[in-house]
Amino acid sequence: MSGNWERGVRRVVPYTPGEQPSGDVIKLNTNENPYPPSPKVKAAVDAVSDGRLRLYPDTVCRELTAELAAQAGVEPEQVFIGVGSDDVLSMAFLTFFNTDEPVLFPNVTYSFYDVWAKVYGIKYKTVALDKEFRIHTQDYFEKNGGIVIANPNAPTGILLGLEEIESIVAANPDSVVIIDEAYIDFGGKSAVGLTARYENLLVVQTFSKSRSLAGLRIGMAYGDKKLIKYLSDVRFSVNSYTMNTLSQVGGLAALRDREYFEKTRAEIIRVREYSKAKLEELGFSLTDSAANFLFAKPSGKTAGELFSALKARGIYVRWWDKPEISDRLRITVGTKEQMDALFAALKELL
Ligand code: PMP
Repeated sequence: MSGNWERGVRRVVPYTPGEQPSGDVIKLNTNENPYPPSPKVKAAVDAVSDGRLRLYPDTVCRELTAELAAQAGVEPEQVFIGVGSDDVLSMAFLTFFNTDEPVLFPNVTYSFYDVWAKVYGIKYKTVALDKEFRIHTQDYFEKNGGIVIANPNAPTGILLGLEEIESIVAANPDSVVIIDEAYIDFGGKSAVGLTARYENLLVVQTFSKSRSLAGLRIGMAYGDKKLIKYLSDVRFSVNSYTMNTLSQVGGLAALRDREYFEKTRAEIIRVREYSKAKLEELGFSLTDSAANFLFAKPSGKTAGELFSALKARGIYVRWWDKPEISDRLRITVGTKEQMDALFAALKELL
């Protein structure tokens, strides 16, 4: 029997993540880290006892929170942890964007922002980047119900300086400003320090990129104690046990291995700069990416053609069929060997 039950369904168009192909491919499409996580992560996860797994996890992630706070130079009450920064951002949208004014974010940015706005019924307005994909701070000085900026922005890779971030936060004392720093470790200065002076600033980061732990799903946010309390109250109204024990333990081990973190992120930055030069030699024009990916416009063939031809050769990059960016590829920085394989393929294709 089919009645009219669909009248009450919340219908949404979901976010589409990059493909996760199986098999022997060169995967440069979802900005994962090409290096394994610190070997200390596996050791710590292996050492977790059955007795601990039998129990519910620590709801407030005490140890991980304390280490994050210590490393960032903030109090534990200024740290929030979630299941990847997607979860943190989603909770932050739900918590902080609750007025009739539109939330502002760039027209070219992380394509999950408008999806969260729609699923939670939040009004939003996109702000156009300039022709060079730059954000202009004064565009965010108008009345609004909140602001979200990815810094560096994705998929452009372009970084705003701390003064520019501060000018946006300072100009908007009546809104919460979220700075999404998923890629900050690859060349930017974090805005975490500004949270001491601005109650309305939430800085979001992740273990998925610079800590090579996309599979464990750990994200975090830093902010004023009051801001974090509001965020936690909403989170605990949805789910008490979001962070599983293995992620808490593995994340802590990754965080403590600072030497490994410094070594791998320096290598990614080195290969990024090498890759910029190589792509330029191949006729691409590039933004000045401060992230672990490149945003590259080919000449000779269209980005769409190259995307498909590379995929046919087992090399996955990202391409969006959207008017503002359809002439570009977003290419995750892999190992030097992976990048050389990409350049060899591009040389043949072009
Ligand atoms: N923000 C930006 C700008 C991203 O590109 C991503 C990765 N897709 C995320 C947040 C979410 O990453 P995660 O949930 O793995 O922390």
